[in-house]
Amino acid sequence: MQTKSAYQMPVSPMAAAVQPSATLAAGAKARQLKTQGIHVYDFSLGEPDFTTPEHIMQAAADAMKAGHTHYTAASGIVELRQAICRWYKKTYGIDYTAEQVIVSNGAKHSIHNTLASIVGPGDEVIIPSPYWVSYSDLVQMTGATYKLVHCSAESGFKMTPAQLKAAISPRSKLLMLNSPSNPTGAVYSRKELESLADVVLDSNLAVLSDEIYEQLVYGDAQATCFAAMRKELYDRTITISGASKSYAMTGWRMGWALGPLHVIKAMGNVQSQQTSCPSSISQYTAVAALDGDQQCVADMRKEFAARRELVLRRLKEIPGVAILPPDGAFYAFFDVSKHFGRTLGGKPVTDSASFCLVALEAAHVNLVQGSAFGAEGYVRMSYATSREQINGGLDRLEQLLK
Ligand code: PMP
Ligand code: GLU
Repeated sequence: MQTKSAYQMPVSPMAAAVQPSATLAAGAKARQLKTQGIHVYDFSLGEPDFTTPEHIMQAAADAMKAGHTHYTAASGIVELRQAICRWYKKTYGIDYTAEQVIVSNGAKHSIHNTLASIVGPGDEVIIPSPYWVSYSDLVQMTGATYKLVHCSAESGFKMTPAQLKAAISPRSKLLMLNSPSNPTGAVYSRKELESLADVVLDSNLAVLSDEIYEQLVYGDAQATCFAAMRKELYDRTITISGASKSYAMTGWRMGWALGPLHVIKAMGNVQSQQTSCPSSISQYTAVAALDGDQQCVADMRKEFAARRELVLRRLKEIPGVAILPPDGAFYAFFDVSKHFGRTLGGKPVTDSASFCLVALEAAHVNLVQGSAFGAEGYVRMSYATSREQINGGLDRLEQLLK
């Protein structure tokens, strides 16, 4: 219980400036309504609805029984770091040693460690927008600033080499790439990445390439590992990925970063002071995910692909909604600006935040406002949920917008 006193504990300027994660906040809102007995069609959080595959869970039980319940090396157990190296060699033909890999508490933690180890006050980070909500705050937490590069739907939500060139200033130190993208689902082709690479190699930029959705691409789209394209890129890229999306392992908190030895070492020092190590049990479990049968990934991808088709078909029938079909991840990012200026569910809709509020309150459909991703006019729907929920939620949305 809080007592009354003249003393007010200070909050640091850094902590005071951090915004809560908009995606996690939207997820919490749905959870709160659910506790009131309200059925929410929750499309907010980007996390697979599948339970972690059985053989992966078995590895967790085995790890506990084998006594792997202690601190591990700060940067992760060698077995997992080697399994990650094998996966990159097999998938992209790229060579890393275990010392060039660090395992963290989720990819978000790996991104934080990368930023904390590369940039600081006075530095600028270039972020193509729309971008994943956490990038901007994670950059600001280091004391660096960010520059958003607006990428329109007309360009497939992708940054062009000319845009990148124009964004570079003497303070630019890092470019953050995310393909397949959250929130747009855009996937850069190898050719598009090669053109961006030409600009990067002509500058002093390092690159953080967040490839966490690499195993979730549809149709002809293909994920490309930026660092694997050219030797020169290998030396200036930190690749981020993890088990959360591909193996339905969000709660296990397993993410990783690969890159030049001296940077990974610096990240390991940061991590050793910050969190000692990631969960020992999760690490042994992630080895089983990477080394085990990959059919589970193919099965989940197949279901996501079917849901993607369903969402696209249903959204086409809803008036005033425009969507660029996403090639990857599990998000539908659609333009709802035609509804701005209307009164829906008795409330005025003026922007993406008020649209989402009305959708939640009047239709119990939970979406995330595009403004949180740097794209006013849009909303994000995560379709990592059952077809039944998708149909039910889109029925409701359709009724609301008619
Ligand atoms: N990057 C992107 C683009 C994401 O969407 C997410 C989703 N959480 C993450 C990183 C972080 O993933 P996690 O921390 O769950 O591994
Ligand atoms: N990345 C997911 C999302 O965008 C999970 C939530 C989070 O980590 O912010 O919804």
